[in-house]
Amino acid sequence: MSPITHFLGSWLVASVVTDNPRDRKLVTLAGILPDADGLGLVADFAGALIHGEEPTFHYYQQYHHLLLHGWPGAIAVAALLTVFARQRTRVALMCLVVFHLHLLCDLLGSRGPSPADLWPICYGEPLFRHPIWFWKGQWRLDGWQNQTVFFIVFALSLWLAVKRGYSMAEFLGARADAAVVSVLRKWRAKFSFGTC
Ligand SMILES: [Zn+2]
Repeated sequence: MSPITHFLGSWLVASVVTDNPRDRKLVTLAGILPDADGLGLVADFAGALIHGEEPTFHYYQQYHHLLLHGWPGAIAVAALLTVFARQRTRVALMCLVVFHLHLLCDLLGSRGPSPADLWPICYGEPLFRHPIWFWKGQWRLDGWQNQTVFFIVFALSLWLAVKRGYSMAEFLGARADAAVVSVLRKWRAKFSFGTC
């Protein structure tokens, strides 16, 4: 699934299972860090720009879904994030859960344009080649199913932000967060007034 869907879904779970901003951010990060292994794309484009050639996607294809989409990555990410946590046991456990939720979402919906372009989950990588999982019915990355999931988690995120008084914008700082929540609450007040 797209990184933004992973982010919103992870933030929703983190908001429910933690009770302070720091732990919430850490658990959210556990749900988006797996895609850090796709940053080879930046190196691919940078190399192509420097050499004036078409991008080859070498680093992206070499490492994406292989470096941080298995159990070794889950343990490494959870261990790293737990160092900064307030409630360490809970954060360690929830980082593992959210990380695996990311893998499950990728298994469901990260197919390329053609039906044969399946993205498997190589759960033992980068240490072991097996097991390798894939789902033949995998949704297209830009398919309607993924778009539906995005709209659901986006709507839930807005609803939770209004209810709780903090939003996913907290990653941009307290001021941005307060501004987003204030706008959302104004919209809700307007809408409530209009429907009374
Ligand atoms: Zn992923």
